[in-house]
Amino acid sequence: MVNLFGHTVEELRALLAGAGLDCSQAPLLAYWIYRRGETSFSRMFSLPKAVKEYLTVRYFVEAHKPLLVQEASDGTRKYLFGTSAGTVEAVYIPDGRRNTLCVSSQAGCRWRCRYCRTGQDGFRGNLQAGEILSQLHSLPEREKIDHVVFMGMGEPLENTEEVLRAVRILTDPRTYALASRHITLSTIGLLPGLRKILEETKINVTFSLHSPFSGERARLMPVEKKYPFREVLALLSSSPPGKRRRYTVAYTLFEGINDSRAHLQALIALLRDLPLRVNLLHYHVVPGLPFRPASPARTEYFRRGLLGAGISCTVRRSRGEEIAAACGLLSGNGSPDSPRLSPVML
Ligand code: SF4
Repeated sequence: MVNLFGHTVEELRALLAGAGLDCSQAPLLAYWIYRRGETSFSRMFSLPKAVKEYLTVRYFVEAHKPLLVQEASDGTRKYLFGTSAGTVEAVYIPDGRRNTLCVSSQAGCRWRCRYCRTGQDGFRGNLQAGEILSQLHSLPEREKIDHVVFMGMGEPLENTEEVLRAVRILTDPRTYALASRHITLSTIGLLPGLRKILEETKINVTFSLHSPFSGERARLMPVEKKYPFREVLALLSSSPPGKRRRYTVAYTLFEGINDSRAHLQALIALLRDLPLRVNLLHYHVVPGLPFRPASPARTEYFRRGLLGAGISCTVRRSRGEEIAAACGLLSGNGSPDSPRLSPVML
């Protein structure tokens, strides 16, 4: 038996056609699976009887359910999921009228960025599209979620095919119907995957830079040796985002490491005239790692400097730090010593 949860509409179409069935029923089948959340083919009453009977003996529909949830005082909720690759975490972030879900694309990560909690435990496996989508589909807040960011555990562009399948399903008008401009993929800059995402989708891209100096970035992020940031910025520049897509450079400010005047000047020289904005990030301390966040005054110094140079710049508000749900803190272990940890009641 094969799970249909995670199949795109086109894949469902091919599956029905291959069985000699009416493939024009694929969008309706997708509607029942994703929009209606139906798991029993027999209850998909608007599907032809022949389609239901064929599917019932060969396929099933099942999304992963969250195992545990932790809630922070700001309303941020971190959910723990079991997947074929191991446990992963997704974070629900309500913020006024906007409700964002941060999803994981891998269990662990092999890139070992020096400042990141996820990278310290190594790589356990890629998630399949259905396991990525389950992080949205199975949440009690599912109907409220209007933005999805690939910023959880893992590097999404090392799992590009499954991420692309997930994006196709998220944006399909017959399924979740999310606008591409409400989906953001965050990457350290794996060029082959990035090219594909730019060509095949219209989702937003956030590139983690963290230093305008190659040698220093290579010490912080080993990926620099394989995919230098100048090549990543050149690729983004050569594929203008258009009106609806947005490119962002993420710059986490580490005290005494990348927060000097020289860094600001080099950042301005590097990014001036490029079609992107800068998001300054507060660093969330990872126990055992030798990094500290830059002061608020330093962050403001960078913000003003970038804006003064004509570079659009925002400061990302910190969310969910007390339950280790903030950027760079996800580990897939559910922080079991937290008093707010509880089973999910669905
Ligand atoms: S920052 Fe991203 S790419 Fe780097 S180790 Fe962490 S999860 Fe992996």
